[in-house]
Amino acid sequence: MSIAIVGGGVIGLSAAYHLARKGTKDIIVLEKGSVGSGSSTRAAGIITGHLWSETGVRARKISLQRYRELSDELDGYTFQTPGTLNMFDETSWPERAALLPLYDRLEVPYEILDAAEIANRWPALMTKDRPDLVGLFDPLGGYSEPHRYVPALAAKARELGVDIREGQIVTGFERSGNRFTGVLTKDGLVTADVTITATHIWTNHLLQTAGYQLPMRAIVHQRYVTEPLPTAPDLPVVNANPFGAYFRPAEGGAILAGYETPEPALYPVPSLEFDMTAVETPAVYRERLKANLEPLLPVLKNTTWATERVGLLSFSGDEEPILGELAPGLIVAGSFHSGGFAYNPVAGLLLAELALGQATSINIDTFAPTRFSSGDTNKHTRTSHVQRRH
Ligand SMILES: Cc1cc2nc3c(=O)[nH]c(=O)nc-3n(C[C@H](O)[C@H](O)[C@H](O)COP(=O)(O)OP(=O)(O)OC[C@H]3O[C@@H](n4cnc5c(N)ncnc54)[C@H](O)[C@@H]3O)c2cc1C
Repeated sequence: MSIAIVGGGVIGLSAAYHLARKGTKDIIVLEKGSVGSGSSTRAAGIITGHLWSETGVRARKISLQRYRELSDELDGYTFQTPGTLNMFDETSWPERAALLPLYDRLEVPYEILDAAEIANRWPALMTKDRPDLVGLFDPLGGYSEPHRYVPALAAKARELGVDIREGQIVTGFERSGNRFTGVLTKDGLVTADVTITATHIWTNHLLQTAGYQLPMRAIVHQRYVTEPLPTAPDLPVVNANPFGAYFRPAEGGAILAGYETPEPALYPVPSLEFDMTAVETPAVYRERLKANLEPLLPVLKNTTWATERVGLLSFSGDEEPILGELAPGLIVAGSFHSGGFAYNPVAGLLLAELALGQATSINIDTFAPTRFSSGDTNKHTRTSHVQRRH
C-alpha cells in the first residue's frame, strides 16, 4: 500500500507517523516549504479536552492519551501537564455549563472553580476582584512546545522509514476514472494508492485543481512569548476568554500568550505558492494583549514580549474539523479551528485508519468533508470564536 501525504505540518506528519507505526512501508510526505513552516510552528501548542461537540470531545480524549504516550515515543519531546483552566464570565458560562452532562457521560474530568478558588490555587492569578468569573479546570490539559514537538515527530517518522521531501509543491492530482491515483509535483508524478491532503489554508487552492471546493476560511492569529521572568509563577494553561486572550508557561521561565482580536478579519489566501511569513499583525496588539491580561496576571507588568509568531487559523462552514474521504483514493484533513495542534495525535491516527481501510477509533461522520453540499461552499453557520478556544 502506497500513501502520498501532501503537507508537512503536524497533521500530515502525524498521519505519516501513525501509518508507519502500523507497519505501512511506502509513505511519502510532500512539503512545499520545510516541515512545520505553515501554522504548526507558530502555534501555542495548547490542548484541552473540553470541546463542544460529542465527536470533538471523544477525539480529544484520544489526543490527550496519545500526547502522554508520545512523550515516551518521541526523542526530545515532553508533553507538559499543568492542566488547562477554561475561564468564563456570567455571559459565557451558561453555554458551557450546558455541556457538562456531555462531559459526565463521556467521563471527561473537570472541576468548577469560583474566583476565590482560582486565586487560592494559583496565587499569580488575580481573580479575587472578579466574582463573576467561573473556571472550568481540565486536569488532563496541557501543552507542547511546537519547536520541540514538530522536529521530534518528523525525526521519528523518518526513523520508521517515511520519505519526507521538503521544497516539493504538489500542483495537482492524477486520476484513473473516478479514483485518485497520485499527485503531480514539479519533479513529476508520484503515484499512490491513497492520497491525504493535510494542507491547512492552502486546501482549496489544491482541491480546485480537481474540481472540488470546501467551505473553509482563514483568519489571522498571533501569539507572543515574554522575556524570562526572574521567578516563574506557578500557572496552568489559561484560556482567559473574558480577557480576550490565553496564556501558558513557556520554556526558560517565560510566559506565552495569545491575543484574540474582537472581530478577526478573513484572510484571502492568494495562491498555492503563498508563504505564511507574509502574514502580518498590527504592532499595537502587543500593548492591547498586555493591557487585557495585566489585571489577571500582574507579573506581566515586570516583563516585555520577546518574540511574536503570526499565522492563520482555518474554520470550516460549521466550525467542526474536516477529516474523511472526499473521493475514492483521496482523504482530506483540515479546518481544525484554533485546535489543530491539539487534534494532531488523534487526527493522525484516524487518517491512518481511513487510509488503510480500517474501522476508525471513533465515529467521525460529523467531520466528513462530504457533509457540505456544493451550494454550501461559502456558507458559515457560526461567527464567534471567542468562547471556543483550542
Ligand atoms: C498563532 C497561532 C497559535 C495557535 N495556537 C494553537 C494552540 O495553542 N493549540 C492548537 O491546537 N492549535 C493552535 N493553533 C492552530 C494550529 O497551529 C493549526 O490548527 C495546525 O498547525 C494545523 O496543522 P496543519 O498541519 O493542518 O497545518 P500547517 O502546519 O499549516 O501545515 C500545512 C503544510 O502544508 C504545506 N502545503 C500546503 N500546500 C501544499 C502543496 N500544494 N504542496 C506541498 N505542501 C503544501 C504547507 O507548506 C504547510 O507546511 C494556532 C495557530 C496560530 C496561527
